[in-house]
Amino acid sequence: MAIDQTASGISTLKMVIGGQSVDAADGQTFEVVNPATAKVIATAPLGGPADVDAAVTAARRAFDDPKGWSTWAAGKRGRTLAKLAALVKEHSEELAQLECRNTGKPISSARGEVIGASLVFDYYGGAANKIFGQTIPVSKPGLDLTLREPIGVVGLIVPWNFPILMASWKLGPALAAGNTCILKPASLSPMTALRLGELALEAGFPAGVVNVVTGPGGSAGAAIAAHMGVGKVAFTGETTTGQEIMRLASNNVKKVSLELGGKSPNIVYADADIERFAAESPYSVFDNCGQDCCARSRILVERPVHERVVELFAEATRKVVVGDPADEKTEVGTLVSFKQRDRVKDYIEIGLGEGANLVVGGAAPDDPALAEGAYLMPAVFDGVDNDMRIAREEIFGPVVSIIPFDTEAEAIALANATPYGLSGSIWSRDIGKALRTAKGVQAGVLSVNSNSSVHTEAPFGGYKMSGVGRELGMSAIDLYTETKNVFIDLRS
Ligand code: NAD
Repeated sequence: MAIDQTASGISTLKMVIGGQSVDAADGQTFEVVNPATAKVIATAPLGGPADVDAAVTAARRAFDDPKGWSTWAAGKRGRTLAKLAALVKEHSEELAQLECRNTGKPISSARGEVIGASLVFDYYGGAANKIFGQTIPVSKPGLDLTLREPIGVVGLIVPWNFPILMASWKLGPALAAGNTCILKPASLSPMTALRLGELALEAGFPAGVVNVVTGPGGSAGAAIAAHMGVGKVAFTGETTTGQEIMRLASNNVKKVSLELGGKSPNIVYADADIERFAAESPYSVFDNCGQDCCARSRILVERPVHERVVELFAEATRKVVVGDPADEKTEVGTLVSFKQRDRVKDYIEIGLGEGANLVVGGAAPDDPALAEGAYLMPAVFDGVDNDMRIAREEIFGPVVSIIPFDTEAEAIALANATPYGLSGSIWSRDIGKALRTAKGVQAGVLSVNSNSSVHTEAPFGGYKMSGVGRELGMSAIDLYTETKNVFIDLRS
C-alpha cells in the first residue's frame, strides 16, 4: 500500500515507480496539511531529479517491452482503462474523503470530482480502439495513409485545485494512445494521485506504465519538463509556470500542451433571465472556493440592469453555505492553504485600495468553529473598472468583480481586454446577440445561458495566454499521438 496510516493518523505516502511503492532516493519527505484544521495528515516523498530519472527509466522499459503496453491490442488497452474507471468508482468514497481532507473542498464536490474522473477513464477506455488514421488521395499513383502512434514516455504535471480530475484528463488520453506516463501531482495535493497509481496496478496496467512522482515543482516538475527521455509534457497550472515549462521542454523539442490561467467573463445583457443568472452564477465563481481556472471572476453587466444584478447576486452570495468541508451541507470549504488565503486577502485590500466597493464578504467567517481553517467568505466587488488589478489578475479565490457596459461591442471588448482566453458565459434571450458575442469573445470554452462549459466529450482549452492544445474529447488524442504518413507505390 502506498498509503500507510499510522496510529497518529498521519499517513506515510510512497511514490509509485516501476510498479513498486518507493520513498525518495535520498529519503527526504514533506508534510501534507489539512487546510480546514491546519493539522499534518500525511508525509510524502520529496522526489527530485534522481526519482524522475528512475521513473523515466521504468516508463521507457515498459514502452519498449516487445510484448508490452504499447503493443497491446487497442481494445485490450481500452478494457484496462475501463477497469481503472470501475476501480475509481468502487473506491470513490475513500478517494473523495482523501481529496476533501487534503484540499479543503466540500465532500459533496469531492465526490462529484471522483466520479467525474471515473467517467473520464471510461470515455478514454472506449476511445482506445477508435484512434485511426486516414487514406489520402495524393497526386502520385499509389496509396497514402497515416498511422497514429504513441509518443513514448509522457510527463503529466497537474495542479492542486482539482487533483484527481486533472490527473484523469491527462492519463486517460495518454494511456488510450499507448504511451507510458509519469504523473506529478502538486505538493499541496498528492494523496489521490498516489492512490490512483496503486489502483492502476490493480487494474492491470503493467509495471512502469503509470508512475507517480511527488516533489516540488522547481525540482521534480522541472526535471520532468527538461528530461531528454520524455517526449511530451502536458501541464496544468499557472501561466508563469507554463512559460517556464515551455523553456525547459525546448531542449529536446518536446511536444507541449498547456492548460493555464483565466480571468473569465460572465456577460449579462439586459434582456437575460436575470433571476436565473443570479441564482446560478455564484457557483460559477465561488465553487471550489474560487480556485478554478474557469471561474467567472468578472461579471460584465449591461447598464440598465446593473443595480438589479448587483442586488440579486449579493443576495445569492449571502446564501452560499461556507463551512466545514466534511459537512454534507457545505457548498464552499477552505482555500487550499493558508498562504493561498493570505494571497486572496491581499487582493481584497488591493481592490479596496483601488476604490472598488466591497458589497459583501471578503473576511473570515464569524463562526468560531471555523477559526482554525483557511476560510474566506465569498466577496463581491462592485464599482470595478476593468483596468483595476482585481479585474485583470487571476486571484484564484472567491472574489468577483462587477463591471457595467453600454453596448454589445463594449461587452466584447471588455471580455477580451485580458491576456487570458479560457472560458466565459453569455446571458441573453436574443440568440443572435448571444451568438455574435460568442463569436467575438476570444476564449476556448463558452456557454450561453449556462455556466457549464466543461464536458468530458468536448474540447477544452484556452486562447492567448490560457494555454496550448485542447484536452478532453477526441481532441486530446492529438496531444498524445504522432502522425506518421506512409506512401505505398502501387505500380506493378
Ligand atoms: P502551479 O503552476 O504552481 O503548479 C502546477 C504544477 O506544476 C504543480 O504540480 C507544481 O508542482 C508544478 N510546477 C511548479 N513549478 C514548476 C516548474 N518550474 N517546472 C515544472 N513543474 C512545476 O499551479 P497551481 O498553483 O498548482 O494551480 C493553479 C493554477 O492552475 C491557476 O493559475 C489555474 O488557473 C491553473 N489551472 C488551469 C486549468 C486549465 O485547464 N486551464 C485547470 C486548473 C488549474
